Formats: sequence, structure tokens, C-alpha cells
Amino acid sequence: MLQNDQLAEWDRENFFHPSTPLGQFARGELSNRIVTGGKGVYIEDREGNKLLDAFAGLYCVNIGYGRTEVADAIAEQAKELAYYHAYVGHGTEASITLAKMILDRAPDHMSKVYFGLSGSDANETNIKLVWYYNNVLDRPKKKKIISRWRGYHGSGLMTGSLTGLELFHNKFDLPLDQVVHTDAPYYFRRDDLSLSEADFVKQCADNLDALIQKEGPDTVAAFIGEPVLGTGGIVPPPAGYWEAIQAVLNKYDILLIADEVVTGFGRLGSMFGSEHYGIKPDIITIAKGLTSAYAPLSGSIVSDKVWKVLEAGTDKLGAIGHGWTYSAHPISAAAGVANLKLIDELNIVSNAKETGAYFNQSLKDALSDISIVGDIRGEGIMAAVEFVKDKDSRTFFDPADKVGYQVAGALLERSKVIGRAMPQGDILGFAPPLCLTREESDTIVAAAKDAIESVAAKL
Ligand code: PLP
Repeated sequence: MLQNDQLAEWDRENFFHPSTPLGQFARGELSNRIVTGGKGVYIEDREGNKLLDAFAGLYCVNIGYGRTEVADAIAEQAKELAYYHAYVGHGTEASITLAKMILDRAPDHMSKVYFGLSGSDANETNIKLVWYYNNVLDRPKKKKIISRWRGYHGSGLMTGSLTGLELFHNKFDLPLDQVVHTDAPYYFRRDDLSLSEADFVKQCADNLDALIQKEGPDTVAAFIGEPVLGTGGIVPPPAGYWEAIQAVLNKYDILLIADEVVTGFGRLGSMFGSEHYGIKPDIITIAKGLTSAYAPLSGSIVSDKVWKVLEAGTDKLGAIGHGWTYSAHPISAAAGVANLKLIDELNIVSNAKETGAYFNQSLKDALSDISIVGDIRGEGIMAAVEFVKDKDSRTFFDPADKVGYQVAGALLERSKVIGRAMPQGDILGFAPPLCLTREESDTIVAAAKDAIESVAAKL
């Protein structure tokens, strides 16, 4: 075992951490946390702190930490066969079984799953498939992808472009030309406060229609969206949003990619967000909840309609020119099989629905009267609290005050509960493991009330 002080030093000297202010971290102005263990909804660090992780890592440890069933499946697979590739028809029992389990749970019109390693690479795959699809159909101009402001789809070149958050574009020369952004379905932040929800939905659909007309319908290939906006602020769509959007896409023969990296496998209290909102996607992106992050794995589930064209393309052109060395990695696939079995055995999806409803209602009951709480919203086991300077006029705080970060900091310091300050706006996000109990929910809600009140008193 290494000396603790040495480990912290090595961390600052050698480790390039993602999504981190690099200089502050290297200079020691930002504390490091070295995580050593986890059980249920709790993690532990080497200082001996036990923290309630109310964001399930990065909304991914859906079955909770420390499930030996998944760990054992990983160990068995590693001993039996740690690796073989999936090119040219090769597979393993785990990868084939997992593909079947995914399709058994996915909407009926879905046909096949391509495996990747991360949500980002799955969305890169999706865009390549959309372009291939339109080339096979002899529509070489139909290539642009419409995404939403505040959408999050990864941080690669294409996926960072699809992501509609400034932080992921600035100084990276993104977005790429083929990506166009449209409105976020974010009713609380609507420009015109007099709009009803129904008016706002109509405005989103009309603006999308106008954007497609402006770009030229024969140049627009696909629309990508998360059933519930995640990293952009945890924003469930207003009623009727997905129906209105799909009507516009159908009018112009534009494919729909449902990015279910967060919502897939139960987070909304339904197996898929598509099922939850009546979305009929052409491609579904999955990752996080597929293995509950016990091993890296993602997938692109393609519909019958897309698959038929891909098949016709390769019949003419030869093997699909796309593949990763680690696609369908047996160890990750074994983790996926064990994870999906546990989700069924533990009734995780219905718990997400029931405990999620309790959690969301408790947040509303406890926090609505606090002066800086402007909005409390959520769906399934996902929730956000948004802070404002003035409720009546919906005046936001100066971003420089970093109110969201202050609240997340107070939550951690005062109650050892991890929430997430969402990157754009003063928003405290929650997405605990789906095995959350009512008692744990009460702990989170009490901690949130205490943290918000303590920050409000200082402002
Ligand atoms: N899509 C969505 C909706 C996400 O929330 C994320 C990550 O948070 C991604 C894609 C990217 O996944 P990854 O970080 O595994 O590349």
C-alpha cells in the first residue's frame, strides 16, 4: 500500500483529470479526493469519509456500489476469456447474450445493437451510420445533424459539437459545420414568461420547422436529443414536446436519435425514456446504466428501417468500414449481462418509479418556500433545483457568484452528500442509484434543505 501523502502528490504531478480546472488542481488549490470503496448508495474515501453519492458517480452506478454478482461475473469472464474481438462475425457467449437481452427490452421496432465503450463513441458511431444510410439511399446532401442547445452527447469532435454547452465548444474550434442547434425544451428558462407550456411546445416545434426550412430539408439528416435533458440542467420536457417534435421530423424524413445514455435501463422509472415519452427513435444510444458502470460499455441500437439500408449498403460495398478493437469486450459484456439480470431481480425499474416519485415530491415539499429556489423539477430518480435571485421576476444570479457550486459545496461539507452543480446555470442536480430507499431519500432532502438555507443566508 502506498503512503497516502505520496499518492496525493503523484496525483497532482502526473494525472490529467477530465473536466477539471487544470492549473488550480496541479497547484493544490483544489482538493483531491481518492476514492477507495463503495457500498449501496455510499462511497468512501481514503480519509475515512463516508459520502452519500446522490449522483451515482456520473448518473451511471444505477444498481449501487459493491454488487458482488457483477464483480464475480467480471472475474469469471476474465479468467475464462479476457478478450476476443467481434470483427467478421466473432462473438462470445456474453456479448451475444447481452445483445439479445438489450433487444428484448428495447422498443419492438429496434433490430440490432452495435457495441462501443462510451456514450461519446456510441454517438460518433450513430452519426457515421446516419451518413452511410443517406449515401446508400443516394441522398449525398442530406448530412446535417440538429441537436439542442444544452443537449449533452459527449465530448469527441462530432459529439462535442452535438453537445450544446459553451464549455465544450470554447477554444476547441467546435461545433463542426455539419451540426446545427435548436431550442432546448426548457420551459422554466423561456424568454417570454407569458407563454403557457402548450404555447412553448408549439414555439419549439415551429422554430425547428423554420430551422429545417432555412437549412434546406434535403440537407438535414437527423435530430438527436435526450428524452430528459441531462447535463444541460436535468430538464424534463413539457407535455406534448416529443409528439410535436416527431411530427416535424416525419414531415421532412429526418431520422431521430434518442440519446438514452442516462435514461436507458430505468432512470425514469421505465426501461427506456423512449417508452416513457412515446418516442419512436431510429437509433437509440445506450451506455452508463447498461453495466451500471462496473465496466465500460455502450451501444447503438438501430431500428429495422435503418438496418435494412445498412444491409443493402454492405451487400453492395462490402464489410461496414467501422469497428473498435474493444467493441463488445467480453468482460464488459459479462458485466452487462449480470447487471441487467440484477435490475430485473431487484425490481430496480419499479423502485426508480416509486422512490423517484417520493424523492421528487419530498424535494418540492421541503424546498419550495426557500427564497432562492426558483424551480424544482424531475422525473423518475432524477431531479434538479434551480436557484434565482428573485422568484417573482425570475431574475437569475450573476454566474460569477457560482451559487450552484456554493450549494453543492455546502451539501458535501455539511452533510457528506454528493449532488452535482450542473455546468450551465445555478442548478443542483440529483441522480442517485436506482436502488435508493425512502430513508436515503429523506437524508438527501434534509441535506439539500440545510445546504440551500445556509447559502441563502450568506447571499
Ligand atoms: N450522452 C449523454 C446523454 C450523456 O449524459 C453522456 C455522458 O454524460 C454521454 C452521451 C457521453 O458519454 P461518455 O461520457 O461515456 O462518453
